[in-house]
Amino acid sequence: MIKNLICINCPRGCHLTVDYSPETGACTVTGNHCPRGVSYATQEMTDPRRTVTAVVRTTSAALPLLPVRTAKEFPKPLIPKLLNYLYTLTVQPPLAMGDVVLPNAMDTGIDVIATEPLEG
Ligand code: SF4
Repeated sequence: MIKNLICINCPRGCHLTVDYSPETGACTVTGNHCPRGVSYATQEMTDPRRTVTAVVRTTSAALPLLPVRTAKEFPKPLIPKLLNYLYTLTVQPPLAMGDVVLPNAMDTGIDVIATEPLEG
């Protein structure tokens, strides 16, 4: 399987061509100007992840929607399921920036944390 990607690890934005075999896991990358391009392309082909940002409802009239994000990059295939769940959540003050609003999201071991304080 051949795929073209743009490396997002630095502003140079190298155009990568990746030859990936799902059967063997072999990944050959060309077009990179440094080893980070190989790491990026391999991760994208085998286990793509993104930092997820969203908002959750609160019981606070002063801040009815609280911005949140995953504490680490989250598996891309599980992102729609995570977002659907987050949109059902309602959190209560007080919360500090960085407090966990959803531990172990979708059994990944990755927490979802507040990115703003929610005053009590
Ligand atoms: S391969 Fe290296 S030089 Fe190219 S965009 Fe990625 S990090 Fe930057």
